[in-house]
Amino acid sequence: MLKITPYLGFLVVIVSIGGLWYPILGYFMFLTIGTLFITSIFRGRWFCGNLCARGSYLDYGIINISKKRKNPMILSSMWVRLPVFTLLMVLMTYRISVTFAAHNTFELIGTVLVSMCLVTTIIGTMLGGYFNTRSWCIVCPMGTMQRFIGGNRYQLQMVHESCTDCKLCEKVCPMELEVRDIGNNPDCIKCGRCVEKCPNDSLSF
Ligand code: SF4
Ligand code: SF4
Ligand code: SF4
Repeated sequence: MLKITPYLGFLVVIVSIGGLWYPILGYFMFLTIGTLFITSIFRGRWFCGNLCARGSYLDYGIINISKKRKNPMILSSMWVRLPVFTLLMVLMTYRISVTFAAHNTFELIGTVLVSMCLVTTIIGTMLGGYFNTRSWCIVCPMGTMQRFIGGNRYQLQMVHESCTDCKLCEKVCPMELEVRDIGNNPDCIKCGRCVEKCPNDSLSF
């Protein structure tokens, strides 16, 4: 299984900041969206826990400034997530569509993508700093999209007989999921941290 590394997070900084001078860097967003779309068909939110550059930025960068407060329940509500998803998708589609009338469409699309990356990075940084490292990942439109495409795929399995209720798994879960009652949770990002932490090998994929 691939694992998020600290190095992936640098890509977020490079695209968000470097893209202000080199808009072509924004096309990295298309690569990201294409990859997560394909992986979500087979493994749900696996991309979030193993390959996302922003996930790496949060896990290895923002963790150092995070207050590590419990995320407010409202963040995981679909009443918040769906409007955020719709707003960002409509905004991105509209802004890209108006570039078609210009002569430098390719560069302008890059600028739109860079600005989306920068804005969501700022929001992710603020949420991660004030609440918990991966707060943004609860409302992120790309996470919500993966949930809907393949949320029931590649589920965490639990052997209840060997579980001693020590709750170590829940302490390390970046999505603050109730791992012991995980069932078929489509927001599990398949990071495997709970599996590694469990002293009784009660968890597996
Ligand atoms: S929820 Fe969004 S930002 Fe977080 S890891 Fe998934 S795709 Fe990346
Ligand atoms: S339940 Fe386990 S694999 Fe899923 S997000 Fe939490 S720690 Fe990662
Ligand atoms: S870490 Fe393992 S033994 Fe402990 S509560 Fe979680 S599943 Fe059960």
